Amino acid sequence: MILVSACLAGINCKYDGRNNYVEEFKKMVANGSAIPVCPEQLGGCPTPRPAVEIHGGTGADVLDGKCAVLRKNGEDATDELVKGAEETLKIAQTAGIERAVLKAGSPSCGCGTIYDGSFSGKLKKGNGVTAELLLRNGIRVTTEED
Ligand code: SF4
Repeated sequence: MILVSACLAGINCKYDGRNNYVEEFKKMVANGSAIPVCPEQLGGCPTPRPAVEIHGGTGADVLDGKCAVLRKNGEDATDELVKGAEETLKIAQTAGIERAVLKAGSPSCGCGTIYDGSFSGKLKKGNGVTAELLLRNGIRVTTEED
């Protein structure tokens, strides 16, 4: 059993109300071998919602209280993304999950690279907030691109 970003399974939970459908992940959810989660919805963010990016750091810095997650309109969304990460971890631990496949680039789900905070599509090294929290708790995280 793995955890998978819900948008990869075709669930319309992206900030723009759409998804990042990959057939393989939808099949895994359908046959019971994957649990779909959207950390941003679990953190209380509505859908659709303004896009968010991590400013001045990475998901690790967000968890350590060193930088913030901001919406494109300038509002602070740090609390929602941290809560979403914590709720996702609870689900993973409850289900005995040891591996997660999360959406590349996302400020919540990204692993290895994330958007750089400029809302220009540029990437920087680092993990999203949820990916970082799962990794810190011993869960292996990869992206759909790995
Ligand atoms: S938070 Fe993760 S699961 Fe939710 S829409 Fe963003 S990338 Fe997909």
